[in-house]
Amino acid sequence: MLKSSKNYYEILGVTPDVEDADLKSIYRRLVRKYHPDINPDGEVRFKDIMEAYETLCDEKKRKQYDILNGFFKSSGASSENKSEPYRKSYRAASDKTSRPDSFEKSENKNINFKQTGNEKKDEKNFTDLINDIIDGFSQKPKPKRKSAPKPPVPKNGEDIYADVVITLKESVLGTHKIVNVLNTEICPKCKGRKFINGSKCSHCNGSGKIETRGRINVTIPKNVKNGTKLRLAGEGKKGENGGKNGNLYLKIAIEPDSAFKIDGNDLICEAAISPYEAVLGGDIEIPSIDGTVILTIPPCTKSGQIFRISSKGLKKNNLVGDIIITVKVQIPDRISEEEIKLYEKLKSLAGQSVREN
Ligand SMILES: [Zn+2]
Repeated sequence: MLKSSKNYYEILGVTPDVEDADLKSIYRRLVRKYHPDINPDGEVRFKDIMEAYETLCDEKKRKQYDILNGFFKSSGASSENKSEPYRKSYRAASDKTSRPDSFEKSENKNINFKQTGNEKKDEKNFTDLINDIIDGFSQKPKPKRKSAPKPPVPKNGEDIYADVVITLKESVLGTHKIVNVLNTEICPKCKGRKFINGSKCSHCNGSGKIETRGRINVTIPKNVKNGTKLRLAGEGKKGENGGKNGNLYLKIAIEPDSAFKIDGNDLICEAAISPYEAVLGGDIEIPSIDGTVILTIPPCTKSGQIFRISSKGLKKNNLVGDIIITVKVQIPDRISEEEIKLYEKLKSLAGQSVREN
């Protein structure tokens, strides 16, 4: 049974006088190199290594193997080697200098070797060693590769900033506006995993997220100023993994072409009047927050003259402002021939010169 065509010493790359401790460390090194988990091409070699070590690590089996395969004890061992006469004096059977006959003789002479009594213990050690090593290879890397999914980290959504343009009237009276916001959400198809069955998610193109357009109905309160920022809590980008939603910040812009400027509670505007209105006076319509109001200008009103309409301005802080109007005499671009004749008549009738002072 232990007569083998294989040279176990050669397989393990050791000499027949190798010590047990060395044999073990060499064996461990070879297992690390040729274990099929590591080296798929090393399977045949690995089996040979196992077979070789299984025999050589066991004192009884090793002796049998040595005898049956010609790793015989040479005669004439020195007295110094008495403690280990057997091991130290081996010579390889493949050694060409050894005589073929000596093998058979040696076998007969040395067949009654000592029983060590610790065969079972060695067997167990060997099994433990193999298990240790195989466990080491088959278990340790797996937890790293297949690590349990980490609990997702909550991530708060980003804030969104948007501008809202309103008219002056809207700023005074308050209004509702639909605000379009671009949001980013976890892809509902791949649940943010980016891949489905190993191929890129087509819904989100592998990004794990999709953009959505949200329409938010925003109430703009009364009396907001140009540049006012409104904060709508939780209307920003959505939080992930239980994180809070971001906020939506709206910056109010009052239309720049509005008829009015605002000064405190007062509304300030200009009004164009014709030359005859300037001379004769009259009622002119002025736009206001609540519709139009009538400004009565007196005769001989001059360009640049300022008028005030009380209590028609902005209502804030229990105060009501005024509308302040600067009138500007405006000459029409086109004047009829009849008007020109009348202006010429006015010119001939003119009394006081406007440049007199
Ligand atoms: Zn997707």
